[in-house]
Amino acid sequence: MGALDLTGLQSSLFFESPEEIYARVFRELKPRTATPELRIEFCRFANADSFISLKDGLLLVRMSDLLAGAPAPVLEALAHILLGKLYRKPIAAIYSHRYRLYLNRRDVRRQAHLVKQIRGRKFISGPKGEFFDLEEIFERLNTQFFDGLLGRPQLGWSRGASRSMLGHFDPSHNAIIISRIFDKKDAPALALEYVMYHEMLHLRYPVDHTGARRRVHTREFREIEKKFPQLKEAKELLKRI
Ligand SMILES: [Zn+2]
Repeated sequence: MGALDLTGLQSSLFFESPEEIYARVFRELKPRTATPELRIEFCRFANADSFISLKDGLLLVRMSDLLAGAPAPVLEALAHILLGKLYRKPIAAIYSHRYRLYLNRRDVRRQAHLVKQIRGRKFISGPKGEFFDLEEIFERLNTQFFDGLLGRPQLGWSRGASRSMLGHFDPSHNAIIISRIFDKKDAPALALEYVMYHEMLHLRYPVDHTGARRRVHTREFREIEKKFPQLKEAKELLKRI
C-alpha cells in the first residue's frame, strides 16, 4: 500500500472541455453567482500570454495556441489563475506552480521559442548609434573577457530611450538590445560597457530552468559578473542615468 491514489481526485477533469473546466472553476470561486456565458479561444499569439475579460455577460478567455495541446490539469491551473485575477481572489500556490512547471518543460519552452521566432516581429536597429558603436564595444569586451570566442549576435539600440530597460538579450532573435538612453554625447561610457557586458553574460550563460523555477541570474552568472573592473562605479553611474 502507500501508493498515491489519484482515482478520486478531480476525475471529471480528464473528460471536460476547456469551457467545462472554466465553468467548474468559476462555480468554485463564485458559488453564488450564475455562471456567465463562456467563450474560450486559442489564438496565434507570439508568446504564451493569456487574457480574460467579462463584458456584457460574456466571459472571454483568449489563450495562446501553444496551450491548445496542454493537459487538462494545466488548463485547469490557468483557469484558476485567470479567474482569480479577474475576481481579485488569491490564487492557490498549487495552480501557479503547476502552470509554471508546464511552461518550464523543455519541449514547451522549445515550442514557445520557435513560435516567438516566427511570429514575433522585432525591430532591430543597426549597431551604429550617433555617438557609440555597439559592435566596437561588443568586440572589445569579447576580446577582454571571452577570449574573442563569443559569437556576435545582432546588436541594436532600442526605439525609445528607456530608463527601466537599459539592455536585454533576446534569445529568440539572438539579439542584444541597448537602451538608446546611452547614445548621447555625455553618456558615461563605463556604464554602457557594463550593461553590454551584463547582456553578453546572458548570451554566454543561458537561463536555468529547473522545476518550476526560472533563474536568470544564477550564482555562476553573479560570480563572473564581478570580474568587470569598476563594477561598483558602473552601477553608481547607472543610478544617475
Ligand atoms: Zn540580467
